[in-house]
Amino acid sequence: MFDNLSEKLDKAFHILKGHGKITDVNVADTLKEVRRALLDADVNFKIAKDFTTRVKEKAIGENVLTTLQPGQLMVKIVKDELTELMGGEAAGINLSGNPSVILMSGLQGSGKTTFSGKLANYLKTKKNKKPLLVACDIYRPAAINQLHVVGGQIGVEVYSEPENKNPVVIAENAIKHAKANGFNVVIIDTAGRLAVDEEMMTEIANVHKAIKPHETLFVVDAMTGQDAVNTAKAFNDRLNFDGVILTKLDGDTRGGAAITIKSVVNKPIKFVGTGEKMDAIDVFYPNRMADRILGMGDVVSLVERAQEQYDEEEARKLQKKIAKNEFGFDDFLTQIQQIKKMGSMKDLVGMIPGAGKALKDVEIEDDAFKHVEAIIFSMTPEERSKPSVIDVKRKNRIAKGSGRKIEEVNQLMKQFDQMSKMMKMMQGGGGKKMMQMMQG
Ligand code: GDP
Repeated sequence: MFDNLSEKLDKAFHILKGHGKITDVNVADTLKEVRRALLDADVNFKIAKDFTTRVKEKAIGENVLTTLQPGQLMVKIVKDELTELMGGEAAGINLSGNPSVILMSGLQGSGKTTFSGKLANYLKTKKNKKPLLVACDIYRPAAINQLHVVGGQIGVEVYSEPENKNPVVIAENAIKHAKANGFNVVIIDTAGRLAVDEEMMTEIANVHKAIKPHETLFVVDAMTGQDAVNTAKAFNDRLNFDGVILTKLDGDTRGGAAITIKSVVNKPIKFVGTGEKMDAIDVFYPNRMADRILGMGDVVSLVERAQEQYDEEEARKLQKKIAKNEFGFDDFLTQIQQIKKMGSMKDLVGMIPGAGKALKDVEIEDDAFKHVEAIIFSMTPEERSKPSVIDVKRKNRIAKGSGRKIEEVNQLMKQFDQMSKMMKMMQGGGGKKMMQMMQG
């Protein structure tokens, strides 16, 4: 995410970090580089200029030149300003209605249908809601089908009237259906066009006027940079929407849209989409995003994801197994599944401070556990529960079965062995023992 921008900002701060004594000239050079980095990320000229002006004023106000660590202070000032530019606090969505009606708007291909599904899934699994998805695209039967497929994946009902050509009526009927059947959130997916056109605007404005949604969201593809900002402006002029959804942040996005949209339309980014799967949705936290942009990772989100996967019951079972020396490859597989549920490897690595930069040129496979899983899947149930039975002959068979090299099987066995020992020590109050082992 925003690798290029992060790299350039890092270089800009290097100017300050490299000097024993900081001068006005160094600070000016740094700010020039910061501005260039923002422009390269597709932030518009005026916003980039205002940004560096504010940073400069703050830097003077806080006497950057005389502090002990001017480089760090500058990074902090830039971080605070970036956070502010992206909206300051995280903005929630209004779910006060019964049902709460959420209207989705945006161009075709922006990721509107995908996001409608992600939001329904998020509200269902994380907020305990009963959402209804509504297909209001009267032009493309394929769009209605697509929403039905999405709904099927996440187990959420989809309301549609394929024969009806009046989106206002469909939306009104859907809300009636929701009231009659106990749905407390209604998410309306509307028709998009490839570009902003009057007919589409009138149509969605009519739906908006008729149903008075509690929340109108505008979905936009982050990859489109300044275009995203212009489209947002056009939609906001007509709909006065409540928030922005920025999709495809997992791609090679330069960052301009995320940084500028708030200050252009004065509406917060509420969620971001980070992949094609239904769980690739994140609440947008401006401060965490600023951390990421500055290469500081996002430990808070990482810990939150880990906590979401933490299951106390499972943890207790696992502890018992470890204590009884019964930890096997099936448990190992379960652990891998849990890590995988936290997100793609690329995404997780991006949250570790410094890791993004350190691993910049390393190709991270999205499914990093593919080979390990293949090896384990080639083991018999007996071998998985009692790894000690795996001898050389069995290892050869496992290697052949999984299509991996025997060295890889050996390596996995070794890692598994070390992990089991380590877990046993941690459990048996063996902190001391572990320290001894690590020391030598
Ligand atoms: P709509 O026309 O606005 O409804 O857009 P769709 O929901 O059909 O999405 C268009 C394409 O973008 C599809 O191929 C989606 O899988 C893809 N897509 C949507 N959101 C994301 C995202 O956050 N990341 C990535 N990589 N792809 C996405």
